Amino acid sequence: MTLSISCRCGTSRIFASGIPVLRAYCHSQACRELFGGAVTALAAWRRSEVDLPAGARALACFTLGNRQSKRHFCAGCGDILFAEDALGFRLIPGQALANAGHGAVPERFAPIMHVNYSQRQFDVADNLPKYLERPGGPMYDGLRAPPRPPRSLEIPVSMQQVRALRGNAKIL
Ligand SMILES: [Zn+2]
Ligand SMILES: [Zn+2]
Repeated sequence: MTLSISCRCGTSRIFASGIPVLRAYCHSQACRELFGGAVTALAAWRRSEVDLPAGARALACFTLGNRQSKRHFCAGCGDILFAEDALGFRLIPGQALANAGHGAVPERFAPIMHVNYSQRQFDVADNLPKYLERPGGPMYDGLRAPPRPPRSLEIPVSMQQVRALRGNAKIL
């Protein structure tokens, strides 16, 4: 079955055929750089199974600094239709899948696991399997140290600094 995905402005379109090799929430730094979110819902297809319609103009393409991954997006609206990872898979982000599903990711493409969970920026409370890296590898056991808190939550203020601040407040 072929999935037809268009961007938000309707000028770009791709087709994905066959069954994705991965449907996951990816917590990798690579996906943060590719897609711009802290965690990315995505489905990955083999390279040959994602293509543009015959005769269509190429999508805009940006190769990331590591020269191993590429972002393919619509020059009109900026929607990322797919990205290519270092292994040559074509990753279609949840936003593009949702465009194909009238606002919601079609159930047969929805994430069924978390991958690269060791790189997460926050914990996720759901019942999906959480692989520290690739699917099939070691899993998160819930007992490991939580991710580092965001910097704004760290309080590097000494009592001396607090006294200094109080002093300034008096002057004001
Ligand atoms: Zn567009
Ligand atoms: Zn990733």
